[in-house]
Amino acid sequence: MMLDETQRYLFQRKIKELKDIKGHHTELISLYIPPNRQISDVVAYLRDEYSQSSNIKSKQTRKNVLAAIESLMSRLKYLKKPPPNGIAFFVGTVYNGQPKMIAEVIEPPIPINTYLYRCDSEFYLQPLEKLIEEKDVYGLLLIDRRECTIGFLTGSRIETAVYMTSRVPGKHGRGGQSQRRFERLTEIAAHEWFVKAGEKASKLFLEKKNLKGILIGGPGPTKREFANANYLDYRIKKKIIGIYDTGYTDEYGLKEVVAAASDDLQELDVIRDKKLMKRFLNEVRKDSGLAIYGEKEVKKALVMGSVETLLISDAFNEYRIKARCSNCGYEEEKVVKDDIQPQCPKCGMPMEIIEKKDAVEEIVEIAKKKSSNIEIISRDSEEGEILYKAFGGIAAILRYQTRQ
Ligand SMILES: [Zn+2]
Repeated sequence: MMLDETQRYLFQRKIKELKDIKGHHTELISLYIPPNRQISDVVAYLRDEYSQSSNIKSKQTRKNVLAAIESLMSRLKYLKKPPPNGIAFFVGTVYNGQPKMIAEVIEPPIPINTYLYRCDSEFYLQPLEKLIEEKDVYGLLLIDRRECTIGFLTGSRIETAVYMTSRVPGKHGRGGQSQRRFERLTEIAAHEWFVKAGEKASKLFLEKKNLKGILIGGPGPTKREFANANYLDYRIKKKIIGIYDTGYTDEYGLKEVVAAASDDLQELDVIRDKKLMKRFLNEVRKDSGLAIYGEKEVKKALVMGSVETLLISDAFNEYRIKARCSNCGYEEEKVVKDDIQPQCPKCGMPMEIIEKKDAVEEIVEIAKKKSSNIEIISRDSEEGEILYKAFGGIAAILRYQTRQ
């Protein structure tokens, strides 16, 4: 299974949040349990760690580590076995004003295979980071009248799926047949060859989940004739990114076609982002009432179900927090930027954050429920930068006008 863009984005944010947490000492515990691990094994291991940690010299660190292990053990009590994709715990004491124990539980969207316990001054996140390494899949198809190779490009890995050869005769007739009859038979054979190659490629490409696009290659004009006719399933045909000249139609040709398409592939996401942002900016310029921005406004429209397309900057960093003033006891809930330390509006003292939730997670949840399109816009393009800088990182194009 692969992550879709939104899942990956949310997951990335979660990882970043954990990464930003720093312990005072070696007192933050990361525990990864893969799906096939017995919980009783893990508990036995933790018990052992617990008795070892009783020897930690610093009183404060010892207290924190033991509390974290206790918290883990009590959580594992309710787990008969690990969830299908495994589970990861991040537990420890953080100092944000008052010391506070935090405990994050992550059920990864794809299976983790790591069994690991680590106690450090920061959380160990590498196994999670590995899960979200960019892995787009593209279909590759090389064809001429003699050969067809079908393969995949996954990340930067190229693999061959099928290699086929045809029985289409060469250009020149053999003796004993009239030239016209020979040509007709050749065309029939070529048609059959294309049908066969088209069916095979369509089947393989349709089976692949999250296929982002198709690259077609080959020497001469055959590949274009093939791509433009209806040999490929219409759903596959729609995914063709480009048709490229290659010298070969075998495995070596797969490398050629990927090299030829590399610029196009890099630009693809950027172009998509640009298009979406241009549409948004156009609505802003026309003052059509179909473009809105800002966390509050967008959320309101999402709840109403009027958002057609939600645009979120990949750099958006707002969090919904609950904060308390330890001086006067004043409490409030609000949305703030990640790096801002809230101040008490009553007495001006720095406030302690007692709850923190990713604002994007909430927004994406509503958008999914209301079937709005969710688009993550990277800051790589000028338009993406505008979304972040000028519109606060969050905007939407509405289905209909809601303004009076
Ligand atoms: Zn106060």
